[in-house]
Amino acid sequence: MKKNKVDFVDKLETGLNQLDIYYSQQQLEQLWEYYCFFETENKKYNLSSITKAEEVIKKHFLDSLVILNHLDLTGKKSWLDIGTGAGFPGLVLKLFLPGDSFYLLDSSAKKINFLKQLSYKLDLQGIRATHGRAEDLAKADGWRASFDHVTSRAVASLNILLEYTVPFLKLGGTAFLYKGPEYKKEIEDAENALDILGSQIKDTIKLDVPGLEAERYLLVIEKMQKTAPKYPRRAGIPNKRPL
Ligand code: SAM
Repeated sequence: MKKNKVDFVDKLETGLNQLDIYYSQQQLEQLWEYYCFFETENKKYNLSSITKAEEVIKKHFLDSLVILNHLDLTGKKSWLDIGTGAGFPGLVLKLFLPGDSFYLLDSSAKKINFLKQLSYKLDLQGIRATHGRAEDLAKADGWRASFDHVTSRAVASLNILLEYTVPFLKLGGTAFLYKGPEYKKEIEDAENALDILGSQIKDTIKLDVPGLEAERYLLVIEKMQKTAPKYPRRAGIPNKRPL
């Protein structure tokens, strides 16, 4: 695939301006470098089915960044992105929140290897990519109840995702879960999980991603109570028998 930097940056700037997101020349360069490395490595490792520049900008970069204007940006925060894949939304958000610390977690070693190389290429500080399953890491010191925010996109339905994400949050912390048009049904099915995990839906926000027809929603989940030690259940069980 032929790469055209001028066209890429032009489309990216148009999208960021439509989203009212401030950006620097350095961030544009970083996203271009991200795209080039992603596109090259994708041929070898099949990281994502979305590879055309225009699609990557809309469906990966802008869709990751669209939540920025819905965040409280005061103070430094710790973030965890669960099932980050090729870094969406975690690594993209890190580029726009450089002072915050980001952990990226995925059960696929090749994706984590890609993210380690990319973080090195972009010379990022305060970022750590780890290979593992959410159910296992959520029991570990330095992970459980350790994050201000957890993000996740396209990983599991809400009743499963809550068991993956809530145990990692500090009390009062918030999860930002990227969802599609089925979100209402997912909320209905997750009533039990919300209750058992001592969490509540703080907000549901309709997101407008420039150029994207698909409906996008952000679910903001707040952790109200300490998670009981038995959650999450062992790897594979949340998915097989959702709460
Ligand atoms: N978040 C990325 C995105 O939106 O492009 C990737 C989505 S991909 C469809 C789902 C990812 O979640 C995969 O990379 C998979 O390896 C990871 N995953 C699924 N279950 C997981 C678990 N229990 N713990 C950690 N990662 C998981």
